[in-house]
Amino acid sequence: MPGMPLDELIEKIAAAGVVGAGGGGFPTAFKLKTKTPIATIIINGAECEPLLQVDQELMARYPGELLAALATLVRGTGAQTGVIALKEKYHNAQAALAGAIKTYPDLQLHLLPDVYPMGDEHLLTYSITGQVIPPGGLPLHAGAVVLNVETLYNLHHALAGQPVTHKYVTITGAVRRPLTARVPLGIPVAELLTLAGGPLREDYLLIAGGPCMGKPVSSNALITKTTKGIIVLPLDHPLAATYRRDLNQELKLALKVCCQCQQCTDFCPRHLLGRPLEPHRVMRAATYGLADVTLPQALLCSECGLCDLYACPFNLSPRQVNRKIKAELQQQGFKPGPWQATNPSPFRAGRQVPTKSIISRLGLKEYYARPVAFQEEEINVQEVRLPLKQSAGAAPVPVVKAGDRVQAGDLLALIGENTLGASLHASSSGTVVAVNDSIIIKEGAIRGER
Ligand code: SF4
Ligand code: SF4
Repeated sequence: MPGMPLDELIEKIAAAGVVGAGGGGFPTAFKLKTKTPIATIIINGAECEPLLQVDQELMARYPGELLAALATLVRGTGAQTGVIALKEKYHNAQAALAGAIKTYPDLQLHLLPDVYPMGDEHLLTYSITGQVIPPGGLPLHAGAVVLNVETLYNLHHALAGQPVTHKYVTITGAVRRPLTARVPLGIPVAELLTLAGGPLREDYLLIAGGPCMGKPVSSNALITKTTKGIIVLPLDHPLAATYRRDLNQELKLALKVCCQCQQCTDFCPRHLLGRPLEPHRVMRAATYGLADVTLPQALLCSECGLCDLYACPFNLSPRQVNRKIKAELQQQGFKPGPWQATNPSPFRAGRQVPTKSIISRLGLKEYYARPVAFQEEEINVQEVRLPLKQSAGAAPVPVVKAGDRVQAGDLLALIGENTLGASLHASSSGTVVAVNDSIIIKEGAIRGER
């Protein structure tokens, strides 16, 4: 749909409830509502968390849809170019896109090395534009807008008037049949686990997201617009132990054993990009309880986890400490002053960590080697529970009440035109049985897709 005016594009994207599907959850319409000129639209296909295979599959299976949507966006925003960035090793995706992109002179592919992390917007923007986003800034400060691959795929459907009702999720690890599946929003993780044939072990930990940046969840947790992966780990897996660590113990441990070797700083990707972030200093200040000027540096941490999962010889977690400090500073309404940035470190290239080293360090080789099936057929569900708030910003306002009959795709809750947030649609047909901070719909899903 080339030539669609930006206002119309934004309106369609907002009406469909599109949000960052890679985990960020920022409402896409708001990303595009900017007075800052956009030079480059970057599609983030790095998918650098080991084990996840959502974006790779979408790029390999739907290159035409993705490129058409990107071309429409580039023309609508007046950007100079649209770039799909993906790892060199995603051969199927690369072949599919390379064939289809020839008819789009404004679009290009950008191949990324297989290092972790690579999908961080700051690292990606630098890799593509050569411009460093100022510390605390956004890709727009380098003239870029970054969207995830699945977000672009949803945007393609939004332009045709189809709202976001489903999510692609990879479920892998200790399951019988690892797979990437398209499932209705609002089903519990337990249902996805059943789809994957069930766990291989009785005692297991569920991690939502990827193995490096995920968060432990229960089997009752719901699939939302931002769920990208579910990793199932036996409780005695070393990575499961890492996820179950207690922050207070962590701080005590840090006080005893942090030797200030600086390895965490040496490998920190944000530090190497020239950010004034030195996790070893934050550790020192935090463990000694200092109200140190260093602490606000924590706000620049992406929580990639390279420091604790890879760099620290004692498995200490500057990431956890940064997370705690960030939460405290945000609670206090702390506003950092202008940061003193430097240029990217000359050591940066040599200190990038190959993904295979991370996989090996995390004990994930066994899971990484397993084939991951792909499944898009509609599944029958008896009930979906759709949390109203599935994005950054405010929750949308329900427009349905208990007792209403709805069809998949119907509007359930609406966000105001100028309010940050995203509207919500029914992922399954049935009867609305409750409306509170979630909307519950009972009865089976209709067959047929969008
Ligand atoms: S790598 Fe570990 S021991 Fe070394 S400074 Fe960082 S937290 Fe301390
Ligand atoms: S998690 Fe660690 S390595 Fe990653 S940005 Fe934060 S301090 Fe740096």
